[in-house]
Amino acid sequence: MKRENSFLLVLLFGNGLLSAQQLYEYSLDNFDKVVIADEGFETYLYTMDRLAAQYNLQIKVQGEGFRQADSPVKAAIVPPSATSNHLVGHAVDVNIVYNGTWYNSSALGNYSSLPQAIKSFITGCKNAGMRWGGELSTPDPVHFDDGLHLRNKTQYDTLYLLYQ
Ligand SMILES: [Zn+2]
Repeated sequence: MKRENSFLLVLLFGNGLLSAQQLYEYSLDNFDKVVIADEGFETYLYTMDRLAAQYNLQIKVQGEGFRQADSPVKAAIVPPSATSNHLVGHAVDVNIVYNGTWYNSSALGNYSSLPQAIKSFITGCKNAGMRWGGELSTPDPVHFDDGLHLRNKTQYDTLYLLYQ
């Protein structure tokens, strides 16, 4: 796995210090494409990669992870109430290939029919503190995130205003 600088670099001024906040491109051994994510999501991506290796899964990335809002309000002072961890680089959408079979959204949504390897992958992600979209109130079985907006709304809002 390796990490490269992505396209967006934001300089922060605070307490007299200058620091850089940026998105990175993560190339993971068991993912077919790079994922663009905030550094704070890195540990979760590494967990997904490690679990994929453990259970012999190939991760097929859908989209790029980080996403620009469809209608960004550049002058926003307060982020919109509609939250998505994709907007702050703390989510990724995936399909999963196991034993030659491709599991897309509808297949992943049929949890009881999934092979044990994929169930164990999902359980491992949850045990690491992630949310699986298949269990959200509006199910989105391809979606994995770290629930940043619930764990640390201040951090979510800060990142939103930086990246959008
Ligand atoms: Zn998603």
